[in-house]
Amino acid sequence: MNLVAIVWFRNNLRIHDNEVLVKAIAKAEIVIPVYVIDNELLGTANFGFRKMGVHRAKFMLEAVTDLAKSLEQLGTKLQVHIGDTTEILNKLVAEYGVNTIYAEAYHTSEEQTLQEKVETTVWKKQVTVVWEEGNTMVHSADLPFPVAQLPNIFTEFRKAAEREVRIRPLAKTTHKIKSISLPATVIPTLPSLGYSSAEIAKLTESGKKQFFEGGETAGLDRVQEYLWDTNLIETYKETRNGLLGNKYSTKFSAWLAFGCLSARYIYHEVRKYEREICSNDSTYWVIFELYWRDYFAFVARKFGTSIFLKGGIKQQITTTKTFKAGIDKWIVGETGNPFIDANMRELALTGFMSNRGRQNVASYFVKDLKQDWRIGAAYFEQQLIDYDVCSNWGNWNYVAGIGNDPRENRYFNTYKQASMYDAEAKYIKRWVPVLATLPPTYAINPNTMTKEEQKQFGVVLGVNYPLPLVRIAEKVW
Ligand SMILES: Cc1cc2nc3c(=O)[nH]c(=O)nc-3n(C[C@H](O)[C@H](O)[C@H](O)COP(=O)(O)OP(=O)(O)OC[C@H]3O[C@@H](n4cnc5c(N)ncnc54)[C@H](O)[C@@H]3O)c2cc1C
Repeated sequence: MNLVAIVWFRNNLRIHDNEVLVKAIAKAEIVIPVYVIDNELLGTANFGFRKMGVHRAKFMLEAVTDLAKSLEQLGTKLQVHIGDTTEILNKLVAEYGVNTIYAEAYHTSEEQTLQEKVETTVWKKQVTVVWEEGNTMVHSADLPFPVAQLPNIFTEFRKAAEREVRIRPLAKTTHKIKSISLPATVIPTLPSLGYSSAEIAKLTESGKKQFFEGGETAGLDRVQEYLWDTNLIETYKETRNGLLGNKYSTKFSAWLAFGCLSARYIYHEVRKYEREICSNDSTYWVIFELYWRDYFAFVARKFGTSIFLKGGIKQQITTTKTFKAGIDKWIVGETGNPFIDANMRELALTGFMSNRGRQNVASYFVKDLKQDWRIGAAYFEQQLIDYDVCSNWGNWNYVAGIGNDPRENRYFNTYKQASMYDAEAKYIKRWVPVLATLPPTYAINPNTMTKEEQKQFGVVLGVNYPLPLVRIAEKVW
């Protein structure tokens, strides 16, 4: 009897460093690669947002298309389905006489519920599911402590990991996949997934080409570009708080979120770069940030569903206000605080926002507007092209001051932040063009203009740019 395996691709849409694929190929005689766009992903999340906005959906379709091409070159066809994952896998199990399903395991609640459902359903057909860990740079089995004893302070985790964990080598390269004759791959389109023409129009509205094209090929190209072609990595630590363009940071996040890039691959490329070209604080700092990514993955695993609850990891309920109009203005970038508005408009139009921007808009939402942080996090979940359940909800816990690290409850004075990181107001003027005529200090805080100055510069508050929703600081930076 032939051993038939399904490789269920999830957020590991790549061929390189793919332990799931390597294991399946080693054990099975016939491999059937499958990707399912689950109905749940196409539906509505809490607070009425979409689970997956149009930017991420586009990126996903590109990533799946790229994976299908790579698999074709390796001798098989990706089977793409839309619907209920469990039902689809169960049907394919029966159709092809599958013995084993290989898949990457995740540790957040919705993902686990699905894993358990798949496992119990196919078990009735005597099919086993083999779970692999492959999403983090540090393999969870190599941690110097059980996940339940993960330190509550990031630095303690990082130092222990740096001292005691050797990042594993990459999984073997796949050259060929033994399969059977499978139907041709049909990749759905955005309209067929239910995205409206108004949503699709958002993709071109900004008039700028997006930095991000989904897929392993584009992800690997970005690593090549950021490290080897442009050496941008050598100045990462100085530029990483930037706001404009694609040079100030790696932009690896969306490819990491879909697993088009493996974190381990990036680690080994950076180490190679350090050996062959240059090793400095900046090259190290990219790895440092990947430890943050890992940390949030392990935090989510340690604290389970509490990262999604109002009281967060700390289980500390803070009073919030009901201010629907404020939330709506935050979303569309009409708060009257130019730094916040610029960032929120960039997010709405491109699906991306810098790390500096994310910290500021989240802090403003929670600490200035005094809103329930989960609404902000759910909007980010819809909107971010690089949405990652652990990084998003974990970072929001931290900004809201209910994370596990007692030192991470920070308030961002958004005007001060703008004057530090956008001193010439170039970023503000890019996204809030009505402020383009103002000197930088006024573009950062238009509320400090006199009525005469407003007339002189053609920016009249409450007329062509909103009055601030909340007064934050009297001081002018
Ligand atoms: C409120 C909030 C929500 C966020 N939501 C997400 C999210 O859904 N998905 C996501 O990938 N990142 C999230 N981040 C983290 C961070 O903002 C992005 O990873 C980063 O801006 C992506 O750009 P980059 O790839 O150029 O990052 P770089 O600065 O080049 O960093 C390199 C990589 O390190 C990792 N990284 C960097 N900073 C962080 C961090 N604070 N937390 C976790 N990983 C980090 C990312 O994988 C990133 O690609 C969030 C941050 C905040 C404050």
